[in-house]
Amino acid sequence: MNKPPKKRYSIFIYYSIVLGILFLLNLVLYPYLLKNSVEEVSYSTMLEKVESGVVTSVQRQSNQWVFSTKENGEEKMYKTGPWDDPSITEILIKNNVDFGAKIPEAPGVVATVLSWVIPIILFVVVGRILSRSMAKNMGGIGPMSFGKSNAKVYIEANTGKSFKDVAGQEEAKEALKEIVGFLHNPGKYARIGAKLPKGVLLVGPPGTGKTLLAQAVAGEAHVPFFSISGSEFVEMFVGMGASRVRDLFRQANEKAPCIVFIDEIDTIGKRRDSQIGGNDEREQTLNQLLSEMDGFDGKKGVVILAATNRPETLDPALLRPGRFDRRVPVELPDLNGRMAIFEVHLRHVRHEDNINLEQVGLATAGASGADIANMVNEAALRAVREGRTEVSQRDIEESVEVVIAGYERKSMVIQPREREIIAYHEVGHAIVAASQTHSAPVAKITIIPRTSGALGYTLQIDKEEKFLMSKEELMTEMVTLSGGRAAEQVFFNVETTGASNDIEKMTNIASSIVMKFGMTEDFGMASLVSEGNSYLGGGSQVVVSELSHRKADEVIFSLVKDAHKKAIQILEENKEAAHAIAQYLLEKETITGQEFMEIFNQYSEDQINAPDNKNDKVYAPQAPTQIEAHDKTVN
Ligand code: ADP
Ligand code: MG
Ligand code: ZN
Repeated sequence: MNKPPKKRYSIFIYYSIVLGILFLLNLVLYPYLLKNSVEEVSYSTMLEKVESGVVTSVQRQSNQWVFSTKENGEEKMYKTGPWDDPSITEILIKNNVDFGAKIPEAPGVVATVLSWVIPIILFVVVGRILSRSMAKNMGGIGPMSFGKSNAKVYIEANTGKSFKDVAGQEEAKEALKEIVGFLHNPGKYARIGAKLPKGVLLVGPPGTGKTLLAQAVAGEAHVPFFSISGSEFVEMFVGMGASRVRDLFRQANEKAPCIVFIDEIDTIGKRRDSQIGGNDEREQTLNQLLSEMDGFDGKKGVVILAATNRPETLDPALLRPGRFDRRVPVELPDLNGRMAIFEVHLRHVRHEDNINLEQVGLATAGASGADIANMVNEAALRAVREGRTEVSQRDIEESVEVVIAGYERKSMVIQPREREIIAYHEVGHAIVAASQTHSAPVAKITIIPRTSGALGYTLQIDKEEKFLMSKEELMTEMVTLSGGRAAEQVFFNVETTGASNDIEKMTNIASSIVMKFGMTEDFGMASLVSEGNSYLGGGSQVVVSELSHRKADEVIFSLVKDAHKKAIQILEENKEAAHAIAQYLLEKETITGQEFMEIFNQYSEDQINAPDNKNDKVYAPQAPTQIEAHDKTVN
């Protein structure tokens, strides 16, 4: 069998290490051990011992004297350096000691041979065993194979996941089921001449279940499943990435039908650019991947799954037909999806029977599957903390807030005046929201600080899930966001850093109205930006001229100013209501939307209906969320 040079090289390294260890053992450790077993004494001590008659025998060796004693029935060995002493023979005879010298010999041939040969045999055997077990784990690779793929082989039970574990991604599951079907029965497809897509790319925001879906496919398909993360290709050594890709595909071809899953493929699949001094290593890896994907036969049944949340950065060559030609979007779950995900995860915790899935589903608009999994776990932790054995509806509601805003920080000490400002700030948001027609009902106001840095927040939750927002709603949103700062100004005549988060959000909305949504007269339907990453919320790039950009800024500023003005006006008209609600809030720390509306309606001319909390609908912040962090730090 011809071994590849690299393998021979690593075996060479292995045996060099073994030899090195042997040298150490023979030259340092053994002599050291021997030396320590016999106590070394001075020549005069030996003479003394001989004179006192305890010495039984003395042996002269080439470079030392060794003698044994018997004292109180206890035998002991000593040694001493040679001393040129002609009278010693006489003394020894006088004291009746058995003495002599060893015949000088070549140090025990057999012993030496053994001390070198036995360890070598041992190392060889251990090396064999190790390499064999490694080979088993890694799908047939020799020992010490630096730079070989770490692709793990998952077989059926290993991922332990099935499509049942993935909720709310029906379209993605549908697309992947076809692939599972193919792997179960490739013949059915081959007969008609159909080829399955070679590569399937799962794209979507983080935490939506892409990795989970791939694991579920593996669990359902009952075929070997090679899983590797893109970052594992990126190595310290140049050329390793490409060699790993080669190795991975070699293994996959041997095990076909099988699935290869490359998670976070963007780490290696980034668009190659013509810049000088680009990342050579990464490009080599990508080139290798491209050529491997072309190289294997689609009918054989190797399906490549890949996942990414930055599809726009992928090299176009990777996406052309014949490579990752099928794209399966894995989006944030809608209301039904969220309810289903809650259900899946609640299966694993003990909970009360009366959990209202719709309510928590509505309260978590914009949450990903991973967020929901986290919420359910937080709820279970809360139940344990409170000494209960079952998760209740209340636990889940509370954990939703924990995941969004962090834990309550009850111990935080806030000075009375600051606390007042915070209360008025929040009440400002709430009153401005309640006074406008297009805004979502206020569900909760609290001034208990949270670990996220929020010193308080106002929760508004829509009554139903919404996918579109009109210009009016966006403007309303901006006015509501300015409500906090407006309250600071109207009631305390101050401006605090607590509004920074609100300000950032409302500026973003204003900028989107102008630059992205085509909702202004000045620019009409023109889009002034090109979108960056649609999943990670990456920045967008301005694509218009300097002049238009400047004009756009002016429009944005005027939108912000208008919103602020309107908020101040609303608060001026509702001063009494604000005082009453703020007093109540300062006393209670947290008030419900119901309580808020009751007080508000006593002062307001046009009666607004309270959100029907009895019906138990709680709702979450819509896309631009209303939860705000009142950072204490100023940047
Ligand atoms: P990503 O899309 O970032 O790869 P993951 O698949 O790693 O996300 O999801 C992380 C965790 O979130 C999963 O292990 C699972 O517990 C939970 N999760 C995400 N999406 C779903 C879903 N659709 N159904 C059930 N659980 C989900
Ligand atoms: Mg993932
Ligand atoms: Zn605020």
